[in-house]
Amino acid sequence: MTAAKISVRDVSRTYRVGREDFAALAGVSLDIADGEFVTVVGPSGCGKSTLLNVLAGLDQPTGGSALVDGDPVTGPGPERGVIFQQYALFPWLTVRRNVEFGLRTAGVGRAERRERAERFIRLVGLERFADALPKTLSGGMKQRCAIARAYAADPSILLMDEPFGALDSLTRVRLQEQLLDTWTSDRRTVVFVTHDVDEAVFLANRVVVMAARPGRIVETVAVDLPYPRTEQIRLSPEFAALRNRVWQAVHHQ
Ligand code: ADP
Repeated sequence: MTAAKISVRDVSRTYRVGREDFAALAGVSLDIADGEFVTVVGPSGCGKSTLLNVLAGLDQPTGGSALVDGDPVTGPGPERGVIFQQYALFPWLTVRRNVEFGLRTAGVGRAERRERAERFIRLVGLERFADALPKTLSGGMKQRCAIARAYAADPSILLMDEPFGALDSLTRVRLQEQLLDTWTSDRRTVVFVTHDVDEAVFLANRVVVMAARPGRIVETVAVDLPYPRTEQIRLSPEFAALRNRVWQAVHHQ
């Protein structure tokens, strides 16, 4: 048996609110294989972001542990790229400089920084905007820039928290398809948080459904639909059946 790429073991995260303990996560366990695309879906407040932050090393569990490649997560690391809904770009840096930023702090030399930034800017289709500032870009372009920045650091895991949540539906569909294109060629492990059931099913190998109070996993649904996931798949009865199943799990908790 191969070890899981990511292993979440009985993780809880309790907040003290006034005099009471509030369980944002309680007894969450989940193994994710190398190269898997897992989406996490559930109503607002069920602990999706908390779980992602624990994996990112931005938050510490109050019980249990999260392991990456068998090692406990104790903080952020270069093998985990994190993408949030808010683009988190430096407004005073151009697209190119934003994409290069993490590489500079990682000590990658100038020529290689340039080369890698070019490659990923091209991958997300922003080559004409490499010298533009974020404020001149649309929301979708900003998010493509954030994705290019995460890719440039060459993480083996992408942790994405509602990355397309602020985008219009057309842009969202385009970025979903682009993300899957890239994933099918490089097979990085992806953990993708969303509250959108369609998005969760369309992208994933496996959908993890969470519920609130306390934040926990209530169901895991395998999505045995082939890749590439085309519009035809999105409109297929198999997709509809899976979406209904996940919908039920989310809405009838
Ligand atoms: P989701 O991403 O599913 O919307 P979150 O992980 O953001 O849920 O939050 C889970 C629960 O934990 C929510 O009820 C939220 O209010 C609570 N929570 C998150 N952060 C804190 C905090 N710093 N202090 C107290 N409660 C928090």
